[in-house]
Amino acid sequence: MSEAPLLSVRDLSKAFGGVQAVNRVSFELNKGDLLGIIGPNGSGKTTTVNLITGFVKATGGRVLFKGQDITSWAPYKIVRLGIARTFQMVKPFYQLPAFKNMIIPLYSPRVKALAGGKYGDRNAVALDLLEEVGFERDAQVAYKVASVLPQGYLKRLELAKAIALQPELMILDELFSGLSLAEVASIVPIIEKLLLEGKTIIMIEHRLKELFRIASRLMVLNYGRKIAEGSAKEVMESDEVKKAYLGSEE
Ligand code: ADP
Ligand code: MG
Repeated sequence: MSEAPLLSVRDLSKAFGGVQAVNRVSFELNKGDLLGIIGPNGSGKTTTVNLITGFVKATGGRVLFKGQDITSWAPYKIVRLGIARTFQMVKPFYQLPAFKNMIIPLYSPRVKALAGGKYGDRNAVALDLLEEVGFERDAQVAYKVASVLPQGYLKRLELAKAIALQPELMILDELFSGLSLAEVASIVPIIEKLLLEGKTIIMIEHRLKELFRIASRLMVLNYGRKIAEGSAKEVMESDEVKKAYLGSEE
């Protein structure tokens, strides 16, 4: 008997009033995949993430995680099952030091359950996780309040918070946006390492060059619909994709 895919999305739909933000999108994801989701602004990428993670309720379709129907479950329950996401717009607690922001996921029921009640020193775990995503151990950045950190560190913090949840599936919504080429180049190996550790990842990205290097598969959305899926080469050769991208140029 073959195992169920890690994630199975079937005819997923979301209408906001008259706007069909996501329109019968279907795709599957197996363990270890890195699926890149691309598409012009407003094509439904973030809404797709919000639907999978329970932040908005579906108006149609299904989301199955390891065969279990999780459609429109509350976000905290979905996190508990092993799906963590980062936000396109970062929302740290600005008044707290970076490492204290890590306490939120580190005190979550999922981490508690995985730790079997034995936490150890969570401040130390927080600092280790921040180091893993590029907060230099000696530079004291982890102790600074989030409000003074540049975007690059806030994005790294966002990634560390997701890693802290020890998810099986990570969904990264425009992690690279607002970052310099050098910053992106330094985060790519962190994502490659997560894949080697067996994580499954969905990345929403506009930085196609970097995405194409690490993605195992791409899916393209336009006006809420899936218009292509396949390798980077396959999707970029699609006439519909070319049209969607040219049409979106301002
Ligand atoms: P993307 O992430 O691809 O840029 P979004 O998923 O954010 O696109 O948006 C898709 C469409 O849904 C857009 O037309 C957007 O204006 C609309 N939309 C997204 N969120 C909401 C919301 N909460 N209320 C109303 N419309 C929304
Ligand atoms: Mg978006």
